[in-house]
Amino acid sequence: MSKILVTGGCGYIGSHTVVDLTDHGFNAISADDFSNSHQKMVDGISSLINKKHVNYEVNLCDMEATERIFKENPDIEAVIHFAAHIYVPESVENPIKYYRNNLNNLLNVMECCKRYGVDNLIFSSSCAVYGNTKELPVTESTPFGEAECPYARTKQMGEQIIRDFCLANPKFNAVLLRYFNPAGSHESSKIGEAPILENTHLVPILTEVAIGHRKSMTVFGTDYPTRDGSCVRDFIHVMDLAHAHTKAVEYLLQKKNETNCDVFNLGIGDGVTVLEAINAFEKINGIKLNYSLGERRAGDVAAIYADTSKSKNKLGWTPKRNIEDIVKSAWDWERNKSWLTE
Ligand code: UDP
Repeated sequence: MSKILVTGGCGYIGSHTVVDLTDHGFNAISADDFSNSHQKMVDGISSLINKKHVNYEVNLCDMEATERIFKENPDIEAVIHFAAHIYVPESVENPIKYYRNNLNNLLNVMECCKRYGVDNLIFSSSCAVYGNTKELPVTESTPFGEAECPYARTKQMGEQIIRDFCLANPKFNAVLLRYFNPAGSHESSKIGEAPILENTHLVPILTEVAIGHRKSMTVFGTDYPTRDGSCVRDFIHVMDLAHAHTKAVEYLLQKKNETNCDVFNLGIGDGVTVLEAINAFEKINGIKLNYSLGERRAGDVAAIYADTSKSKNKLGWTPKRNIEDIVKSAWDWERNKSWLTE
């Protein structure tokens, strides 16, 4: 059983990836300091993988603590690096927090890979690297645009750091995965999106309004040049996204990569507007949401969705779920997640 280190493995996408890796025969351990995840998520993961999940409570900006994980686990074959701060508005308000964390922890993880002979890295990047591009759908060769926020810039810089490292270390292999908009939860409702910090992502805001934790929500911007004036995003179900990581690990371990730094878009390949996502939620769950139409939010791009042909052809990955599956599973999770904070 190949051992995979998943940083941020008790967070949203990380936890789903640990479960998917285990379902496909890998031994996934994680490093998560619970700065934006619940300790109890370990129990949720454990109940799905039928064994006690092993997590190291480590802040990866601490090099010594990070190194201990690699020392204790000389059999790690690949690292999936999720651990990062992820909120666009917070990054606009507090850029230093984003640069300090997202770059330092990546550098430490890579330094450890080098010192301990781990030759495979999968990096959580984002479609935010494309900026406000006119070229839609975006392909992996669409050039980086001007980053719209510090969060996006940390992902551009992270990719560049990994590229330089791959050039200098031809034996080292990296896959950069550019996520579009992950949402939804595991079908069991045992794990899902449950940040500690205030969430600013759209789908969990819909569920928080539906359950009454928020009185209402605002659609940020209705004057964008899109079919209904609200932003267009490519919402990808978190379980499909998690499975793409398993595929990427297999791709590297089976040495199917043609270059030592490969990049893939992970989206559904179809744009959904914010208003369409709200309508899908209302229809599938039979709930009316209290929302108003408001001003644009700083840092947002108007529209972005993926060309997914490369991930389909090379990784052999095809997403199976759509926006209806996303909003249904997100609502199921919202109604089940109270045990996390009890
Ligand atoms: N959005 C919104 N109201 C909210 C939260 C988000 O209208 O309360 C919009 C946001 O402006 C963007 C889209 O939903 O156009 C997706 O935002 P999210 O923060 O979920 O992801 P991002 O695309 O910024 O990574």
